[in-house]
Amino acid sequence: MQVLIANTRSYDQPQVIISRSEHLFERDINGSKVVFGPGPVVHSIETVFETRTVILTNLSPRTSREDILQYIKPAQDCTHLNIDASVIPVTARLEFRTAAQAVTASQYLNGTKVLGSPVSARLDNARVVTDSGSFRSTKVKVSWYKPSRIAWAHYDDLARAKKEAIRLQGKTFDGQTLSVEFQKPTPKQYCSFSIVIKGLPLNFKEENLEKFCHAREVTIGKQSFHARNSYEQVKALLGRYGTLESFDISSQSNKSPKFKVFAHYREWEDAENACTELHKRPQPFLRHSVLLLENVHAIRYDVTQTRYQAVKRELLNLQKRQPIGCKLRIYDEDATVKVCIRGYSASAKAIASLKIALDALVRGQIVKQDDGSILWEASFVESSTQESSLELAKRYKCWIEFDVSQRRVLLFGSPSNCKSVRTIMLKSSVELKKQVHTISLDTQKLRALITGGLRLVEQIVGEDKVRLDLRHRKLTIEGSATTLFNVENTLKSLDRPYLQSGPACPVCLGEPVNPVTLPCGHPYCMECITRHLKDQSKSRYPDCSCFFAEGTTSCKEPIEANILRRFLTPEEEGSLYSAVYLGYIRSHPKEFMNCPTPDCPTIYRRTAGILRCPSCVVKICSSCNVEYHDGVTCAEYEEELDRELAAMESWKKELDVHSCPNCQANLQKQAGCNHVLCIQCNQHICWVCKEGFADSGSCYKHMGVAHGGIGGEYQGRINGSRK
Ligand SMILES: [Zn+2]
Ligand SMILES: [Zn+2]
Ligand SMILES: [Zn+2]
Ligand SMILES: [Zn+2]
Ligand SMILES: [Zn+2]
Ligand SMILES: [Zn+2]
Repeated sequence: MQVLIANTRSYDQPQVIISRSEHLFERDINGSKVVFGPGPVVHSIETVFETRTVILTNLSPRTSREDILQYIKPAQDCTHLNIDASVIPVTARLEFRTAAQAVTASQYLNGTKVLGSPVSARLDNARVVTDSGSFRSTKVKVSWYKPSRIAWAHYDDLARAKKEAIRLQGKTFDGQTLSVEFQKPTPKQYCSFSIVIKGLPLNFKEENLEKFCHAREVTIGKQSFHARNSYEQVKALLGRYGTLESFDISSQSNKSPKFKVFAHYREWEDAENACTELHKRPQPFLRHSVLLLENVHAIRYDVTQTRYQAVKRELLNLQKRQPIGCKLRIYDEDATVKVCIRGYSASAKAIASLKIALDALVRGQIVKQDDGSILWEASFVESSTQESSLELAKRYKCWIEFDVSQRRVLLFGSPSNCKSVRTIMLKSSVELKKQVHTISLDTQKLRALITGGLRLVEQIVGEDKVRLDLRHRKLTIEGSATTLFNVENTLKSLDRPYLQSGPACPVCLGEPVNPVTLPCGHPYCMECITRHLKDQSKSRYPDCSCFFAEGTTSCKEPIEANILRRFLTPEEEGSLYSAVYLGYIRSHPKEFMNCPTPDCPTIYRRTAGILRCPSCVVKICSSCNVEYHDGVTCAEYEEELDRELAAMESWKKELDVHSCPNCQANLQKQAGCNHVLCIQCNQHICWVCKEGFADSGSCYKHMGVAHGGIGGEYQGRINGSRK
């Protein structure tokens, strides 16, 4: 479309002026909960290992919700309070908005009196909650053979006794398998010979055993141990390895040859220790029969009913196929609450692969276009669009959710049904793009359009898809609802006052074309700011602040999330925040580290002890930052490392390599001044004294004060005397 009346004077150009709305927002990145502020900059990070749950115990059975909320001030900030009166002592779980709040609350609450008695409070660290499910390894399955009786059978004949011992070994008596041995006679023994029979049931008739053994006579001994005592003793033994959260005796069938209990430790390390130390070890209190222990790894998902109904068939199929080495249980009896899906396994690796299968079903699929980009339309925020999409999804037995904060659509259901829904959504999205929209114009808007604003609209919609009808004061555009939304926004901004005479675009340094003015008041060309922000989304250390500069002052005002969103696709937005997050992790190596497994995205705090990564299930020593060194203490491990480091140091000296004071990366100065930028963590380093600085300004300042200049060949050139 041709511009009918053009006005090239810059002060007549319509301005897109964007206003401020400061706020923080949270995004889930690789399982971490990251709060961002404008810029974007990282405000705070909660790793998957941090918890928002506080557990209160030692509550009196009379305690009510109101008591807890009333007596304990920090409890008032909790978002969820759940009292479990079925266990003794009574326990309550308090959920908080942030992990930091939970830490403060647990410290304050521990020892505080409720109804006169002090309660104990602690963080629920055993459960690692990822964005989808939770993972814990604190459960131990313990079993041991039931008590039995011993007996001796007597024979007149030595050869007969020997023969019977061989015949009876391994035979079953009253359902019990026997272990039988010939007893070596003493030198004086010449008329009665015995065999010893172990593993007999507790109650049986003497004459039956006599017949069974073809013996002249039998003597029945005491039972090996008492059942009730054995439970007590097993519990005490397990308690030596750490605090037990619970000790559940599982219901037994009489036929089962073993007793079985489930013990829950507070810490997963204790559970693991108990298993390695006690498994298959004979116990004196069991008359030297062995205890059998198995560390049970468990995952748990709480799924909404709507999501569950959509994937129910697939889940049941998965359950029927019986994932190798795993048990999968689904608790869906109560339709009013979330469905609980649990998986158990003795193998951490098996549970990891079950988790992958469950994640794919329970977390939903992101709807993508044919080119792999995420499908998102501005109209998806409208309830009418959401409702009609839901109708469509239901027709295919699927469930659909619109994630407005991350601009993506999630589909739940069988793969084939999801595929059908996706195909229809994509088709209608193409048709949406062909829709014709008509916008009525008032005098001011019309004037703004013909004095240059039309160029802006054309840029958004495409030149051949805009028609300005001057007679009827109408603007007709062809495009999607997203396009319409953008055009309407632009028209709204045309009402704003015009900038009289403006500064240059900080990117191209020319007069801004299709200017966009940021909240700080600095105008950019639409094209320039868009390209700049798209570039930042691909950068390792994105900087999305305004880079207007005049003389010695520069603006540097951070650009807010809602503004960035105008220029970036959902993918670009996602990679921008990921890059900011990863940059933050890299530049805070004293605080955060990456899981040592290559390509595993999990991060952890360096003070967290021994962890088990929920993504790759590897054990991590957080103080040494390596895969856990089993059987070696941290000190021993460090010693070994020191020996390697000594060899490394002599190599570094030879090549003039130095470590970054922040992240310890090896750096070698090629040329230039003594200001060196660490490629790993972006730290600014003075190469003379190897001191680190947050920005180049303070580094240069330091070099000036401490070393009388920036050094290197530049210093030489400035002084006119090359060194
Ligand atoms: Zn420009
Ligand atoms: Zn600015
Ligand atoms: Zn990992
Ligand atoms: Zn260590
Ligand atoms: Zn560094
Ligand atoms: Zn220095």
